[in-house]
Amino acid sequence: MKKIELHCHFDGSLDVGFASRLMQEDVASQMICTGAKSLAEYLEKFTLPIQLLQTESNLEQFSYLLAKDLVRDEVIYAEIRFCPLLHTSQGLTPNQVIAAVLRGLRRVPEVKTNLILCMMRNFSFSENNQIINVALEWLRRGVCGIDLAGDEANYPTDTPDFAELFRRAGISRIPFTVHAGEADGPESIKAALRFGAWRIGHGVRAIESDGVISRLKSQKIAIEVCPRSNFDTGAYQDVKQYPVKKLLQKGVMVTVNTDNRTVSNTSLEQEYQLLKSEFGFTDLDLFFCNMHAAYSAFISAGEKVALLEELVRDFESLRK
Ligand SMILES: [Zn+2]
Repeated sequence: MKKIELHCHFDGSLDVGFASRLMQEDVASQMICTGAKSLAEYLEKFTLPIQLLQTESNLEQFSYLLAKDLVRDEVIYAEIRFCPLLHTSQGLTPNQVIAAVLRGLRRVPEVKTNLILCMMRNFSFSENNQIINVALEWLRRGVCGIDLAGDEANYPTDTPDFAELFRRAGISRIPFTVHAGEADGPESIKAALRFGAWRIGHGVRAIESDGVISRLKSQKIAIEVCPRSNFDTGAYQDVKQYPVKKLLQKGVMVTVNTDNRTVSNTSLEQEYQLLKSEFGFTDLDLFFCNMHAAYSAFISAGEKVALLEELVRDFESLRK
């Protein structure tokens, strides 16, 4: 089945083979999470990837390998996210970082891609403001929006700084999504909605608030669900409690994503299989999730229609 992915972190999705060659040792255990107790512990798996992504050649090669991986996974459109300021410790500028990542992705024309630049919860106001400015410079030239990522439990969403940053993004008409309702509850999603979020990263804990669910529905705001990652970070321990099917049945625009292909050792196809085997998803449910993703992507109306048409053609051919 052809797929769309809206929530995939570049630094969480690095090719382990290439990383091991660079480090001259097997680094799989440093990059793949095999059971964390918290989001903070899960985030420790990003230390080595960030260390490796400090040169233009590594940035380009890893993004090229990620694009090849997306094609193998039958992804036709992907929004890849990362924080450019985390890749400047050896002297690269944010512009050089973004240009290198885009060069790698564009070497694989079989998959359309755009970048989402992440503001970080632990960053200063001026660092996050710099990310908004860089996004504005690259908007519609490979960058399609911004995000807020990092440790949600220890750095809550609802602060005056984040409100002001997203107010600025809104004035500049930069589309944005916010990681919310993953490690923190529905209050975090409420704040993101008040800021004017176009989509919600994860958002599964919307299930705890009827008010949040009805706002997501009435405003047609999609949630970027990443099932395996939610189990890896300990956001959910019991598969039976995971509300993905309930959210879809209640009419929320659910999209399915990997979050981190390497850290969570997954692919979109594997996420689909998990949803089918554990939650009774049908091919039609997954097709609707992809339709939601096309509708909610940070692209032009014309590009959305092209994606929707491609998904319909593909789904019809699968049912023949
Ligand atoms: Zn994420």
